[in-house]
Amino acid sequence: MKKKAIQSLYVHIPFCIQKCNYCDFVSYPLKDCNELCAEYGPLLVKELVLYDREYDFSRLKTIYIGGGTPTIYPDLLSLIYYLPQPKSEFTVEANPGTVSYDQLRDMRQMGVNRISFGVQSFNDARLGQMGRLYCRKDVKDAVYMAKEAGFENISIDMMYGLPGQTSEEWEDELEQAIALKVPHISAYALTLASGTPWSEAVRRGELSVNDDLAGDMLMHTRQQLKNAGYNQYEISNFSFPGYECEHNINYWKRANYLGIGINASSCIDDYRFTNLQGREYADAINEGHKPVASSELLTVREMISETIFLILRTDRGLNLREFKAQFGVDIMEMFSSEIIRLKALGLLIEHNGYLQLTEKALPVANQVFCRFV
Ligand code: SF4
Repeated sequence: MKKKAIQSLYVHIPFCIQKCNYCDFVSYPLKDCNELCAEYGPLLVKELVLYDREYDFSRLKTIYIGGGTPTIYPDLLSLIYYLPQPKSEFTVEANPGTVSYDQLRDMRQMGVNRISFGVQSFNDARLGQMGRLYCRKDVKDAVYMAKEAGFENISIDMMYGLPGQTSEEWEDELEQAIALKVPHISAYALTLASGTPWSEAVRRGELSVNDDLAGDMLMHTRQQLKNAGYNQYEISNFSFPGYECEHNINYWKRANYLGIGINASSCIDDYRFTNLQGREYADAINEGHKPVASSELLTVREMISETIFLILRTDRGLNLREFKAQFGVDIMEMFSSEIIRLKALGLLIEHNGYLQLTEKALPVANQVFCRFV
């Protein structure tokens, strides 16, 4: 059997110092899971070996170690040592206040060439409210240390639409992000996930969020970052030319990716699956099984919908010729009435053989994507 080529590998490190007040990711406070943490690196390596017979990693382009907070994981450097070397991009996610110069230098020397800091805010009061354990000075120090350690490709994640956040406050946050002169900035709207302390506080009326204001903030972000030389290459992602995140671009192109680690997800052609959590993950691997919790085989129609709404997130948009070559159907015929309606509403355009979202569509992109499901 011919092995399927994997273009991107995601490695999930589920440990954090403490849980942030808005977070519903699968992550555990490190102090509560010392045993799991001690065996986690070998488990990840064993999991990778389990896939060796089916998948070909020789053309691996990108690796992304995310979390959680990978930089608090004590065996991070050994893990990096055991992972295959990607041809192009090797990212590690980090939180300010959890990195040292030596750690950054060692990662850089071991082939990690991109660092992504989860900054979220430069406002110390906000950071405290979010449950993040660092301050503005730590952010600046972390970025400075990363540059000193040889990282050119640095990204920072920011978050807008926070409870009580004003447009002026967000403009100031962006100014501080721009002042760091990093080549990549991600700006995400807060999502109030149910069961988190913040969603409970909103339910009780103690906090409030304004979705309309968040839409305006996205449009403002686009303009302010454009003025500073950043291109919005995806709804939430901005970069200097040549610094787009290749790993995420592979997701949006629906390239094959394997995720390893607790709760990691994978998508390989029409097969999508998600891993087990907690001890169940460890037990499955120790018994020699793939730690898969759920899986599904996508229909062609589902793959078509997914392809459309993932690639429409990008500024390049959907290449009409490539789409027809891949699926054997013309999207302009398959979704003709939806496309005519969305064009008439000024939400979609056809340009040089590509179908693209318009600027007007950006704050309502999810409503556009629904038309293709
Ligand atoms: S650091 Fe990230 S993963 Fe960890 S609790 Fe906070 S938001 Fe969640």
